Amino acid sequence: MPKPQDLLIPRPRKIELTGGTMPLTALHAEAPEPLATEMRAADTLFRQTRLFGEALPCRLSLDVELPAEGYELVIAADGVRITGGDRAGVFYGIQTLRQLLEGAQNARRGELVALRIVDAPEFHWRSCMLDSARHFQSAAQVREVIEVLARYKFNRFHWHLVDHFSWRIGFNRHAEMLEPFPGHARSTGYYTPEEIRDILAYAAERHIEVIPELEMPGHSSGVFAIHPELACPDGTPIDVTRCEYCIGNPASRRFLGEIIDETMELFPGIRHLHLGGDEASPRHWRQCPVCRNAIRDLGLNDERDLEHHFMTDLARRVLDHGVRPILWSSLRAYDPRIIMQCWGGRPLDPELNRGSLAGRRSMVRCQTAWIGAVAAAQMELALMRGADLINSRHDYTYLDYPMRRSEPHSLWMPDLTLERVYQFDPLPEETSAGRRRQVLGAEACLWTELITPDRVMEKLFPRLLAFCETVWTPGELRDWTDFRRRARHHRH
Ligand SMILES: [Zn+2]
Repeated sequence: MPKPQDLLIPRPRKIELTGGTMPLTALHAEAPEPLATEMRAADTLFRQTRLFGEALPCRLSLDVELPAEGYELVIAADGVRITGGDRAGVFYGIQTLRQLLEGAQNARRGELVALRIVDAPEFHWRSCMLDSARHFQSAAQVREVIEVLARYKFNRFHWHLVDHFSWRIGFNRHAEMLEPFPGHARSTGYYTPEEIRDILAYAAERHIEVIPELEMPGHSSGVFAIHPELACPDGTPIDVTRCEYCIGNPASRRFLGEIIDETMELFPGIRHLHLGGDEASPRHWRQCPVCRNAIRDLGLNDERDLEHHFMTDLARRVLDHGVRPILWSSLRAYDPRIIMQCWGGRPLDPELNRGSLAGRRSMVRCQTAWIGAVAAAQMELALMRGADLINSRHDYTYLDYPMRRSEPHSLWMPDLTLERVYQFDPLPEETSAGRRRQVLGAEACLWTELITPDRVMEKLFPRLLAFCETVWTPGELRDWTDFRRRARHHRH
């Protein structure tokens, strides 16, 4: 029979065996009215675990003296007690109890060890991103991902919904974006307003905030198949290689402003909206008379300044809705109300397509190290400028990268082993104590260019287990050997 401390991921802050056991009999939740949702969650768990015999109580309560999202779990001979610093804390106590119950059942043990666990997260931004644009997962599959995130105490689900030819939000006022794009094969499918509301409610019950992402001004080539007027009129043909809106054209801002407004209606009550902002090339803007005029009229220096102006303007539109915008990092300064998500960049060296395979692989390794350094520099700059940031350094957190070389992958992708994910530190190196609060937390990302819906879980696990511990458990309590022992009890 494994010890209770060998069953738990993420590892709790403090676990104390108090002596004795509790018979593994039926349990029923008791809670005051404000904890009605958590009481239902506990009772659902108890039904799923199919326990029999005279029911013992599982008492849920709140104690504002406990930290936000923190909880205390006590198992004694006469039942279970879970006290949370807030509702989320109570919910996380239930998730810890779930792992203990499953561990005892798997070991065919008729009792739980009496104990007291005191726990709270190290970071309050514990997020996972799913790319539903490149490959479309059904609403049921999305709920399944949210369910496993909740079990590992994630509190945010970043949902990548717009990219090139894939628009996955059931817009009414811009329904043309949901039609097949002329001349381009794409995977079809979008989430209806009902499915979106349903997923928001499902996530909220599990204390997970949904953060939709609209990609702009790059990664947008599909738009121009339908709205060619939104691309730069610089004489080059509109094809898949041009990805950027004409950011000097007020019509682009108008179109994206309408898309933002409708997204707010379709995702009522959201607190953050991700506006993308990564990997836009200034190539067309440089040639475009409309963009050049805009740079002159606004008294700006160059295309990157114009991009900054364009994105800041759209971010303000989000702020006007009372919602905080998030952007993939850029080296230009943004309004500190915008959260920066730092990932690094992608190896784009054309040399990657030449030479021997061994040579190209060693180049990937060099470039990855270099890009890791870019991510570190981006974060240092963002912190200096007073921005709040989310750390998703690609070389630690991109779960589409192969865990081993035998998995399908693009050549530019470095390996990302389970141990490397476990070594991740959400706090960038040399963050001064005064800047510590600006690091909100971290995010693991599952891009799906190569990942079909049936492989989502296989790509998430086991590395998501390692990641969740990096954001929940303080660094001094993390231990790779100990983690590996515990991970054996968490198969998906
Ligand atoms: Zn232009």
